[in-house]
Amino acid sequence: MTFLFPSVCMVCGHLLVVGDNCSEQLKELQICVRCLSTFPVRLEKERWFPCLSNPYETDPIPDFKVWTMLHYRTPVTMLLRRMKFHSAHYCGTLIGTLMGREFPKDLPVTWQAVIPIPLSEKRRETRGFNQAEVLGEKLAEAISVPMLPEVLVRTRHTSQQSRFQDPLQRDSNVSGAFAVESSWDISGWNILLLDDILTSGATLHEAARVLYQAGAALVVGVAAATHRERIEKAH
Ligand SMILES: [Zn+2]
Repeated sequence: MTFLFPSVCMVCGHLLVVGDNCSEQLKELQICVRCLSTFPVRLEKERWFPCLSNPYETDPIPDFKVWTMLHYRTPVTMLLRRMKFHSAHYCGTLIGTLMGREFPKDLPVTWQAVIPIPLSEKRRETRGFNQAEVLGEKLAEAISVPMLPEVLVRTRHTSQQSRFQDPLQRDSNVSGAFAVESSWDISGWNILLLDDILTSGATLHEAARVLYQAGAALVVGVAAATHRERIEKAH
């Protein structure tokens, strides 16, 4: 394959030459060292988010946290879109690999599963794959935790969250949209719940609520990128 299609950097398009502008691993990931060094990586202390911009009084899971390591800026915006709308799995593989490398390994938790936010069947059929699953594969591999995409299912089709500006509309759009597949017993599980982009957090929050309801002990959200700047305040 390399012979027929020489590898080029997915960001700048330059030919990848090991020892010159990339290492073997970067060549495999299809990115040059220069583009990788300008990736909009968040500072380590700025990677944990409370899930909603405005936690509300009766929040059933008020302590829900989301970890995300990238700013939603170029070239991440372009790569996530390319993955999602042009089936460019290699973009997801790169970002998933970075997430796997950076995800904190020293948390005092044993994870039972990485669970991607599921797409509705309708959307999965049109797209052919779930972008959260592509990211999750690499993350799961890096932290040696199984990825179990069949645990959480969509119970109904929802409009794309990006169509709503109003956080209340986002909440009601995803309300009741998820269920735990009845053949799974997730009692006591510690779960990493994965999505591609963190916006209001409504989707992750609703899915986490359902996982808790089904007996999960701990659910932590993970997203590749966010445009949000507000970070978790120390209490
Ligand atoms: Zn490049």
